[in-house]
Amino acid sequence: MDWEVPLFDLELTESERAAVLAVIDSGWLTAGPKTAEFEEAFAAKVGSTHAIAVSSGTAALHLSCLVAGLGRGDEAVVPSLSFVATANAVLYTGARPVFADTAGNNDLTISARDIARRITGRTKAIIVMHYGGYPCDMESVQALADRHGLVLIEDAAHVPGGSLGGRMLGTFGHFGAFSFFSNKNITTGEGGMIVTDDDEAAGLLRRLRSHGMTQATWDRHRGHAFSYDVLDLGFNYRTSEMAAALGLAQLARLEEFNSARERLTRRYREALARLDGIEACFLTPRGTPAYHIMPAMLDEGISRETFMSKMREASVQTSIHYPPIHEFSYYRSALGQTTGLPVTEDVGAREVTLPLFPSMTDSQFTKVVETIARVLDAGRASREERGA
Ligand SMILES: *Cc1c(COP(=O)(O)O)cnc(C)c1O
Repeated sequence: MDWEVPLFDLELTESERAAVLAVIDSGWLTAGPKTAEFEEAFAAKVGSTHAIAVSSGTAALHLSCLVAGLGRGDEAVVPSLSFVATANAVLYTGARPVFADTAGNNDLTISARDIARRITGRTKAIIVMHYGGYPCDMESVQALADRHGLVLIEDAAHVPGGSLGGRMLGTFGHFGAFSFFSNKNITTGEGGMIVTDDDEAAGLLRRLRSHGMTQATWDRHRGHAFSYDVLDLGFNYRTSEMAAALGLAQLARLEEFNSARERLTRRYREALARLDGIEACFLTPRGTPAYHIMPAMLDEGISRETFMSKMREASVQTSIHYPPIHEFSYYRSALGQTTGLPVTEDVGAREVTLPLFPSMTDSQFTKVVETIARVLDAGRASREERGA
């Protein structure tokens, strides 16, 4: 569909095009010098000792869970209000994801109090996700992880450039997993990054992303080695030089992107405050968010499905973040849990995500807000007519 206002639109310019073409001309396409440069630049940006580039955010989460030591018989507490990959990464290791509820219907991050209730003798890790680019209550979560000796992993897919108390998000945990999927704050098409300060873990992560081998192809190309050993059951989670070049060009524009997202978010908050029937989420966020998406809550009694189809009729794309993971068919049958997370279930039923991207124009913004006002008015009129 050709939306007048899409949920998200890419922001690629000549700098990205030139960077990718230069790699093609270089004659070396798989993980090599550009990848190393991207890793160094990313580590410097977030202030971590190591950054390990991988093929996706999901690969970043999977390797983080493996190196955290998760396996059969272990549990990891995770949010249900997240993208399914957060919980899948735990299942890949043989461990069991245990879902914790959402803090509230305006602060959509994981509830630290509910995490505490879910910790058992089998718990080995906590994975938090900075929903929509908004920092979780890391002070409470970190205290819990410390008290129980748990590994802390941040699903940082929404927060490149976000910080809390002067510290970059992704660096609070033992591992921070970023995604550069097409619709994230910065993109490489497909790609991800793991950040950590642990030297030994970093070595293991590098080996696991490339079949558990002791030498990379790039090392052999440079004549550093003729053969190699395989030390672990690894994967091919490598990235490409084209992706790394794109990532470097995008990383240089991260602040520009995030401040454009912030300006639009502030305008949305003001505009939605004047409307009845909808409320912007995160009215009082912690720290410095990365403003990844624009979540809002529709009042009870308003049909989200009708709202979203009326928006679609006006060529404005909206979305839902997220259908709760524990309600998916696969998860219902794999874990046998179908309910028990009241806040998450309420948010899952009433949340609607509005268009947000750095290149959004004034007329696109106005179109979204005017359409919301019109659709909510019409809904109110028809409910009154029915005497509801
Ligand atoms: C996008 C996303 C992922 C997965 O990243 P991919 O790069 O698409 O594998 C994981 N968690 C969250 C919260 C995401 O938004």
